[in-house]
Amino acid sequence: MQVQRVVLSSRPGKNGAPVPENFRLEETTLSLDLKDGEVLVRTLFLSVDPYMRCRMNEDTGAEYLTPWQLSESVDGGGVGVVKSSRCSGFSEGDVVTSFNWPWQTHSAVKGNILQKVDPQLVDGHLSYFLGAVGMTGLTALLGMREKGHVTKGANQTMVVSGAAGACGSIAGQIGRLDGCVRVVGICGSEEKCRALVEDLGFSAAINYRRDDVPAKLRECCPDGVDVYFDNVGGAVSDTVIAQMNNSSHVILCGQISQYNKDVPYPPPLSEETQEALRSKNITRERFMVLNYMDKMEAALLQLSQWVKSGQIKVLETVVNGIENMGVAFCSMMNGGNVGKQIIKLSE
Ligand code: NDP
Repeated sequence: MQVQRVVLSSRPGKNGAPVPENFRLEETTLSLDLKDGEVLVRTLFLSVDPYMRCRMNEDTGAEYLTPWQLSESVDGGGVGVVKSSRCSGFSEGDVVTSFNWPWQTHSAVKGNILQKVDPQLVDGHLSYFLGAVGMTGLTALLGMREKGHVTKGANQTMVVSGAAGACGSIAGQIGRLDGCVRVVGICGSEEKCRALVEDLGFSAAINYRRDDVPAKLRECCPDGVDVYFDNVGGAVSDTVIAQMNNSSHVILCGQISQYNKDVPYPPPLSEETQEALRSKNITRERFMVLNYMDKMEAALLQLSQWVKSGQIKVLETVVNGIENMGVAFCSMMNGGNVGKQIIKLSE
């Protein structure tokens, strides 16, 4: 059968911003003769994620990430439906997901990269398996639970950066559900600020591109900051950390503001910020969702319940067509998404 796939065409290079032209759409022929252990899947939705910027480099800078190879099919989070199977445990019609889904309209993949999922967990919104009831929701929930130290009744103020994105939008809502008295989001547009406050129940929002962040943060967090869910790093995080309370906690989720720079992860901090962390006894441990596989099943159930009951609202930005993978990835890296960036390939 003829299928379309996206390959890596070129690398952004040292300290380079990715562009859609780094990716190339190709037609290729897929053999329908499955080998033992293989499953033929039709792709429904694909995910683009910040960590993929590291996979575009020859050296990813992270021991757990392998580089994508030039002219080879790119892969990442995906969800789809089984067309045929020579792998026990999978049969036609099953809905499946994987962290290593090829950017391809149909694929023959090894069954051991697939997980079967129950569409009822997301009331049929299958793209949620890539976001709120998938990797980014898990990152928000497990990050909060493992590193946030949120305690009901403790009068805590939480700040989230990258707040209108996939992880940030869920983390802030979990902060509210877990009992923070104030949840303040920092993000890059007025539209996003409005969505955080009016749709997701954040207490306040700050536009880091327009507002005086230190002044507005002081105004929104009169009792200082107790928990900081950090998705972005850089100047925004330096400002938040400067206003954190003694013995408070940073959830070191990601540092997207530094991903186009050729620095190791986590990127180095300024002397001033290091001193603020030391002198105020602020915890800032690296968090990696993949280290908590044993907690994922229970966490997914919790996320599903919150989403189904409406206690957590899900925002998505959906782009149609495999030909737009590169555009969607670059748009997400530049803040074009509200909520999870999804690419829809087929019904
Ligand atoms: P998002 O949906 O949040 O999309 C990325 C967002 O980052 C953009 O929308 C943009 O929003 C913001 N951004 C881009 N450049 C900058 C910048 N220079 N300064 C501030 N904000 C910027 O992506 P995810 O939710 O998927 O990922 C969020 C973070 O979580 C990333 O750092 C990612 O690496 C990390 N992550 C970590 C995991 C872990 O296990 N630790 C797992 C998954 C994700 P805006 O308009 O606000 O600028």
